[in-house]
Amino acid sequence: MKPPMKKPKKLNKADRELIAAASAAIKRRYRLDWQTVGAALRTRSGQIFTGVNLDAYLGRMAVCAEAVALGRAFVDLGDAGIETIVAVRHPRPDEKSQAIAVVSPCGACRELIFDYDAKARVIVPNGKSPAIVSIGDLLPNKYIRESDR
Ligand SMILES: [Zn+2]
Repeated sequence: MKPPMKKPKKLNKADRELIAAASAAIKRRYRLDWQTVGAALRTRSGQIFTGVNLDAYLGRMAVCAEAVALGRAFVDLGDAGIETIVAVRHPRPDEKSQAIAVVSPCGACRELIFDYDAKARVIVPNGKSPAIVSIGDLLPNKYIRESDR
């Protein structure tokens, strides 16, 4: 049985700006098979940082766009939290739809986002229009080391 999910919330203007920032980042840096996902986050201090994924010939060295955005924020501001974060995917040239669309953070990014702000809002796909959920909703029963209990 699936645990009950809280009802996703609708986006506000600032959320739509974040999607636009992530979309602009991947539109600018898209390279087939190398850079296909953009991300943007807003820190608790209100600043926006963007990233794109770093794919790699050695696949396990690949880094997600969310991690790149978080790294850029951390270098500039230190631990400034994540008020809201979003990732978007750029389609391949041969795909029918050429729309850049919101994608969910992968499992590893869910862990990372939670570690840097347990109250982060995450923009996720939700049918026709994306929605807001909390990182806790995306990561129930998070991994915790026995020594941290
Ligand atoms: Zn990821």
